[in-house]
Amino acid sequence: MNRRNLLKHSAAAALLPLVPSISQKDEGTLNPVKITKVKSIVTCPHGIEIIVVKVETDQPGLVGYGCATFRQRAHAVVAAIDEYLDDFCRGKRVENIEDIWQTTYVSSYWRNGPVLNNALSGLDQALWDIKGKMAGMPVYQLLGGKSRFAVDCYAHANGKTSEEVAEDVTKYMERGFRHVRIQMGGYGATHLAEQPDFKDAGYGMPDDNYMDQNRYLRSIPELFKTVRKRCGEEVELLHDIHERVQPLDAIRMIQALEDYHPFFIEDPFSPENNRYFEMLREHTTVPIAMGELFNSPHEWVDPMVKGWFDFIRIHISQIGGITPAMKVARLGEWFNIRTAWHGPGDVSPVGHAANAHIDFAVWNFGIQESVHFSDELKEIFPGAPYVENGYMYVSDEPGLGVDVNEELAAKYPLPDKFKYNWTQVRRKDGTPIRP
Ligand code: MG
Repeated sequence: MNRRNLLKHSAAAALLPLVPSISQKDEGTLNPVKITKVKSIVTCPHGIEIIVVKVETDQPGLVGYGCATFRQRAHAVVAAIDEYLDDFCRGKRVENIEDIWQTTYVSSYWRNGPVLNNALSGLDQALWDIKGKMAGMPVYQLLGGKSRFAVDCYAHANGKTSEEVAEDVTKYMERGFRHVRIQMGGYGATHLAEQPDFKDAGYGMPDDNYMDQNRYLRSIPELFKTVRKRCGEEVELLHDIHERVQPLDAIRMIQALEDYHPFFIEDPFSPENNRYFEMLREHTTVPIAMGELFNSPHEWVDPMVKGWFDFIRIHISQIGGITPAMKVARLGEWFNIRTAWHGPGDVSPVGHAANAHIDFAVWNFGIQESVHFSDELKEIFPGAPYVENGYMYVSDEPGLGVDVNEELAAKYPLPDKFKYNWTQVRRKDGTPIRP
């Protein structure tokens, strides 16, 4: 059964005319729709732990889904959802999203951490999904309607040499992408380095990565030069420093990229080094993107108001969902900061849909990180967004437009062991490098 028929036959669609309208007069006079259960759904078909929140209501068939994917602490997020949010939310009225967000946000008293924010995001996005289903509209309509016909995306080109990366860029250009991020050899760029001394000394763990920061810093201007020469001036080029170098070195490297006019350079500093953005601004006109590690408004409000970067790149589930992300986007509009939401493989298809619904609606959209879903993921999440010709599209079904096949999801349980090596990068002497 295709997606359209599925919805036509679903209880949710049949219910739409019966769902009470939302007006002040109705308060207390009609039966409000209430939350009956908040639960986690987990799946891990490709070694990436994906967590989604399902909100069930007292209207048969009316449910919502939201992304709560924080793969590095998946079990902790599951506990936050199943042990706390379920208990906190039962009996609340689904239409009061802002009230539920604000009260949930402070329900732990201590707040703004990644585990609780992801649980909150799952709840928040699920409530927007439900509101769309109640209104019979896609969520982007609830957020103001479309500002563009599709969501422009950037692809990821990779390779171990500049030439390999340039070759990859041409492949994406042939597929219609106008924006391509260029990276060489992953985040530790281990291939750029020799066997580090700490490994010879038996220090650290066998899987730990090594980064030669100096070689990395020298390699990137060379990479831009090669790609520009091979691919021309039309394609927009992006690069992610992914923190991991000293702030002054990052500033110097970004200056060296000016002649290649990058679309943006991403994540030059760790959030702990936010203050260096002021200095960066004074030294270069290269556009800067920042924010995938942000969890707290204390990290982004002042830098945005001061105009220290050009693109806000928050990972939406890491700040608590669509409700706070819309506030961030609106703040950016007044300070000429465009959106570039983080959209890697460890965002669920529901989360990518949430990104794209906001991308459609906000005027100050900048660019979206593109994603490719496997056949397994498309089966588990029918209605997932898709990318064509470098543009992302979402389902026009009411809500976020993504269903979850729970039976299929359950075939890929969370693993017991987590691989930490992606975050474990060291210098030659073994000193841990902070992303
Ligand atoms: Mg990044």
